[in-house]
Amino acid sequence: MTLLFAPPTVSVPIMGTDERFPVRRIYCVGRNYVDHIQEMKEGDERDDPFFFQKPTDAVVTGDVPYPPGTEDLQFEGELVVAIGAPGVDVPVARATELVLGYAAGIDLTRRDRQRHCRARQVSWEAGKSFDASAPCGPITLRAGAGDIDGATLTLTTNGQVRQRTSLTLMIWNVAEIIAHLSRDYRLMPGDLIYTGTPAGVGAVGPGDQVRVDIDGLEPLCITITEGDTHAAQ
Ligand code: MN
Repeated sequence: MTLLFAPPTVSVPIMGTDERFPVRRIYCVGRNYVDHIQEMKEGDERDDPFFFQKPTDAVVTGDVPYPPGTEDLQFEGELVVAIGAPGVDVPVARATELVLGYAAGIDLTRRDRQRHCRARQVSWEAGKSFDASAPCGPITLRAGAGDIDGATLTLTTNGQVRQRTSLTLMIWNVAEIIAHLSRDYRLMPGDLIYTGTPAGVGAVGPGDQVRVDIDGLEPLCITITEGDTHAAQ
């Protein structure tokens, strides 16, 4: 049997090199900032953060077509960690050795679908793991990124500040996220980790420009475009 095609490799630019980062898996952290847990009014803020995944080809670096199946597409500005070395059961003290670099990202969410899933007590995949749901900016190598744990993240829509936080407010910091994740999964080069979002999440629509700035990193700038109109056939 002949394989008729292979899916294209999804990759992200790496600053200062001609190479690109080939994406293997996308892990995301849920509930990693107390102020976001409070605005979502979900559960006990003392509960541990947790992980979910998005499909690899959800990574986009430019325009994002408005997805089908939602009337409430929301941004979540997040620090993204790019893994460059394998690791299992990694201790916190050695965890950042796995980090190739960092990027600014957005965990796009179909909030109405997520809430519906939660109400039905089923997996929230429909709310999180859709096409183009993981915009990611260029990766800055770890050595050039400075003190990422002390950096400030700012998300703007059309120039207006919507989210601003110090990354020191993450419940699990980068090293702790890697340590926790590596207990359940073998981390490998090519893995991206979206580290959770602070308060201020909100809706966007076609024509909106969304920008995420994190000190020391290249900004991520995307535009929401008209989506496919599945109904208009
Ligand atoms: Mn998120």
